Amino acid sequence: MSVQHTKVVIIGSGPAGFTAAIYAARAMLKPVLFEGIQPGGQLTITTEVENYPGFAEPIQGPWLMEQMRAQAEHVGTTLVADHVASLDLSQRPFKLVTESGVTYAADVVILATGAQARWLGLDSEHSYRGFGVSACATCDGFFYRGKNVVVVGGGNTAVEEALFLTNFAAKVTLVHRREGFRAERILQDRLFANPKVDVIWNVEVAEVLGADEPPHVTGVALRDVRSGETRQIATDGVFVAIGHAPATDLVKDQLKLKPSGYVWTAPDSTATSVPGVFAAGDVADDVFRQAVTAAGRGCMAALEAERFLAHAV
Ligand code: FAD
Repeated sequence: MSVQHTKVVIIGSGPAGFTAAIYAARAMLKPVLFEGIQPGGQLTITTEVENYPGFAEPIQGPWLMEQMRAQAEHVGTTLVADHVASLDLSQRPFKLVTESGVTYAADVVILATGAQARWLGLDSEHSYRGFGVSACATCDGFFYRGKNVVVVGGGNTAVEEALFLTNFAAKVTLVHRREGFRAERILQDRLFANPKVDVIWNVEVAEVLGADEPPHVTGVALRDVRSGETRQIATDGVFVAIGHAPATDLVKDQLKLKPSGYVWTAPDSTATSVPGVFAAGDVADDVFRQAVTAAGRGCMAALEAERFLAHAV
């Protein structure tokens, strides 16, 4: 069995992975980047991105990721269209095996496997993702100036997203399948004091309603969890705020994780609990979860990897 040895492997092709690759390649580290089953990462499932600096006009998420990919390749990254099936951090060099059965040995691993928003799992929700259905108020709230939005969820994230959306929307309706939020008291107090917010308890979203050409959301069908009765309310946007799942399967028994399940990194650093393994982007970020912060952490990871290798010699 042939094993390919490389100094730096980067797992993930979102903003964190590609930025790490650009910096590592320009430091002549010849990085190998595994793209995984979602080449380009989360931004490939959205439409307009208005908050990534450098573009005066809104850009499309998939286009931005194509640019990052091309830039990473242009400066010398080897891109591998494969998913990493297993990673062994107990031996040095570290060992990883891809889905297609190729084994790599690496002196440094940059983990940039991201996270996935949790969705309700409705076909209609999937159809209107990026066309009125969002999982990120920071990203998309600005598009709903003066409009009505529904936020789904009952934890801190849902209440924070609802409060944030009151900065733009005319009305924010928070729907929750229980009678009471899990969110912190102080957040709830702020929410209930806000005249723009309505709360509907004991309902779940049965369907996202919309129209085509151009595709847009027109409402939601809500099912009462006690009576089973369904009613419709009109809305321009649906924000699903029921949490995120960091992609830690490869490392969860090998790296220290935060209580939230995200990868732990040292303060002001991307260093993980295993020397030579760095984590960047959403996989280690349970706070900001933005493309620009992921890119920033990817840059840090590559610079820290470079220093690690220089001292390891
Ligand atoms: P991700 O983008 O999550 O990428 C993870 C990568 O890891 C993927 O390429 C995946 O294939 C790969 N991977 C995972 N496991 C493996 C494995 N085992 N082997 C190989 N590869 C693997 N942010 C903004 O700043 N502005 C916005 O407007 C905005 N809009 C958004 C809209 C939507 C619908 C969503 C879901 C998110 C949005 N975000 C936005 C958030 C932004 O997309 C994320 O913060 C950012 O993509 C995180 O980058 P990342 O590199 O950490 O990971």
